[in-house]
Amino acid sequence: MTRVQLNDLQRRWLAEIGVDSVLLRHFAVPEPAAAPTPSARPALSARPAPTPARVQRAAAAEVEAPEAPAAPVPAPAPEDLPDTLEALHYHALRCERCELHRQRHQLVFGAGDTNAPEWMMVGEAPGQTDDGLGLPFQGKAGQLLHAMMLAVGHHAAGFQPGGDAVVTPPWSQPTSAYFTNVVKCRPLGNQSPSAAQIAACRPYLQAQIQHIKPQRILALGQLAAQSLLGAAGEQSVETLRGSVHTLTLAGLEEDVPVVVTWHPATLLLHPHLKPLAWQDIQLAARL
Ligand code: URA
Repeated sequence: MTRVQLNDLQRRWLAEIGVDSVLLRHFAVPEPAAAPTPSARPALSARPAPTPARVQRAAAAEVEAPEAPAAPVPAPAPEDLPDTLEALHYHALRCERCELHRQRHQLVFGAGDTNAPEWMMVGEAPGQTDDGLGLPFQGKAGQLLHAMMLAVGHHAAGFQPGGDAVVTPPWSQPTSAYFTNVVKCRPLGNQSPSAAQIAACRPYLQAQIQHIKPQRILALGQLAAQSLLGAAGEQSVETLRGSVHTLTLAGLEEDVPVVVTWHPATLLLHPHLKPLAWQDIQLAARL
């Protein structure tokens, strides 16, 4: 019996719409055409500096790249990651270390001030609006995060969470801030990322911190606390909030203070927690 053959594009499209990878393996793969191998491409270092636009274009070109192996791929060791933030972004665009890359529309790497900003806000995962725009905190959670920053008299200069929907009152002072997430791809159905997905993305978060060198980190929610603080972050937000934790990373001359509070989405569901979250952001602002 003749086996149906699928090319890479067809296989990727079927995977995208949810056809199981085990089932896909039953289809024959045509003999590979004499296409240039990845090693025949220019080395990353030989390319011009990857601007975000170039990075997005390069990602689009990847549609025809060979399919990721079915077996789980270990997370990159920190020493295997590139040594500039832009190259790290470029690297993350090609990451296939967990299945989330198959479902996302856009990678949401992070946005804001990358030069030792006063704040780094670490959320959980991009939401639907963020996934469409390729930017973090563009939905309701971002609007509340903007309000939390206003509660300490600040708004983020340059990139604002909440997008165009937010109002910045004239009395608030601009501050420098970078916004990112524990995982860079949106889990379908707004599910929480799994432990394996968080572990696969953690080297990117750590490398972002090493490059950006924020003055303080606000960990938004349990998963952000866990990803940043490891075992120490496994306690509940109720236990972790209200005090200053310390993040030590290789390559950082100084430890980074971390304050944990509830995720804005939790605050939207449980508004009675807002006064405590306001206290947490005030605590962080005093550092
Ligand atoms: N948008 C983000 O970028 N992160 C969150 O945690 C929630 C919404």
